[in-house]
Amino acid sequence: MRSLTEKKVVLASHNAGKLREIAALLLPYGIEVVSAGELGLEEPAETEDTFAGNARIKAHFAAKASGLPALSDDSGLSVEALNGAPGVYTADWAETPNGRDFPMAMKKVWDMLEADGAPHPRSAAFNCTLCLAWPDGHDEIFAGKVDGTLSWPMRGELGFGFDPIFTPNGEFETFGEMDPAKKNNMSHRANAFAKFKSILETSV
Ligand code: IMP
Repeated sequence: MRSLTEKKVVLASHNAGKLREIAALLLPYGIEVVSAGELGLEEPAETEDTFAGNARIKAHFAAKASGLPALSDDSGLSVEALNGAPGVYTADWAETPNGRDFPMAMKKVWDMLEADGAPHPRSAAFNCTLCLAWPDGHDEIFAGKVDGTLSWPMRGELGFGFDPIFTPNGEFETFGEMDPAKKNNMSHRANAFAKFKSILETSV
């Protein structure tokens, strides 16, 4: 596994919720982070049908455009009774002509479960794949997952995306209600980051 010797990394995301969580996870390592948005980079089309494939597209695009190592996150919610949907298409389910509408997307998921008469508890998992890519084309991939259940109505104003309907197993609060530091200790992103950390710990 290649070590990260550079002290500056581009976060290859335009998603404010992801940027906040990844910046918090990187904070203890003294790595300067700059976001793709701050560098004026475009968002490449996510044309793959796997989390790793799309994470690679985003990280390689930002690394080549910036000349710096780039860290991307491709993630999504997989609902068991919907055969894993929305999965890699999670963000697409929130698309409207006026931008992304997550309350609408959460309702769409819940309504589909109701229409199918899906049994309770309604199991789901958040998946996260991080890709660290270098301008020379090398990359490293780290995947994480958290299992939980969906509930309705939405609860909590914290977090982002589908957090208000997802409760990780063993907890009572949805990710939308949970203290962000606690979410950052147990989330799919935290689990992927725990693997990514090995690359940082060999770099110092
Ligand atoms: P993408 O990785 O850009 O394709 O988008 C992933 C989508 O999954 C996001 O827009 C969110 O809706 C959702 N998602 C990923 N991680 C989380 C999370 O930690 N909480 C809530 N929703 C998430």
